[in-house]
Amino acid sequence: MLIGAHESISEKINYALDRAKADGCDCVQIFAKNPRMWKSPEIKDKEAYEFKEKAKKLNLGPNASHASYLLNLANPDLKKRKFAIINLIDEIKRAEQLGLFAVMFHPGSNPDKEQGLKFVIESINDAIDKTKEMKALILVENTAGQGNWLGSTLEELKKIFQGVKDKSRFGFCLDTCHLFAAGHDIKNRQKEFFKEFDDLIGLKYIKCFHLNDSMFGLGEKKDRHEHPGKGKIGKKGFEQLMNDKRFKDLPGYLEAPSGNHKENIEYLRNLKK
Ligand SMILES: [Zn+2]
Ligand SMILES: [Zn+2]
Repeated sequence: MLIGAHESISEKINYALDRAKADGCDCVQIFAKNPRMWKSPEIKDKEAYEFKEKAKKLNLGPNASHASYLLNLANPDLKKRKFAIINLIDEIKRAEQLGLFAVMFHPGSNPDKEQGLKFVIESINDAIDKTKEMKALILVENTAGQGNWLGSTLEELKKIFQGVKDKSRFGFCLDTCHLFAAGHDIKNRQKEFFKEFDDLIGLKYIKCFHLNDSMFGLGEKKDRHEHPGKGKIGKKGFEQLMNDKRFKDLPGYLEAPSGNHKENIEYLRNLKK
């Protein structure tokens, strides 16, 4: 697996690339806009050009962006949902501008799960339809299953997958912390988990990973990231993942709590046999 990290864009978007290089990343994940605000200034063409050139020069990639935390494509309120779709489209355009291979997002929350899944599917189809000329992939990230969040079970991920009409730009980002917290035992039953994912959806739709360990135990449904190897998934889980040949060309991004990416990246690389 290619190992990278989520890096800050503070001061200048392309500083994230310098930070990634200093941390020893193969690839980088960023926020293409402020994740806690709806409005963010546009990315200037010059800025985008510099970002793409620098990524090439530093040999970083595939790079991705994580969409806003405010995005809820399953929102029962039509007006708010439409607003979320407009924002997802804006995220896709930014990713395209910066030459990123994908945008990932959490599918959203709704107390009525069936309705929520239907809305998520409609929203994704709408966003894909309205960005037809673009290349950036649209990736659903699995969740820890906290509260009314959708996308923690394979059944829900499968429903979303089946509902997406044009799958050529669609896939999943699997967060290891979220998987474990949602009850998927990737520590002791990792092989079985991927077999099940393959049977239900297809491994080729996994497009990247978030390499987070979990502070909480299996099935506790709490989303708290820990440094890889130091949480409940532990060395055993990450060792298997790092050595899984099927994922050798996929990017995996660290989202460790207090950002000591350099050490974590070395740790993961050393797990490779
Ligand atoms: Zn995420
Ligand atoms: Zn998380």
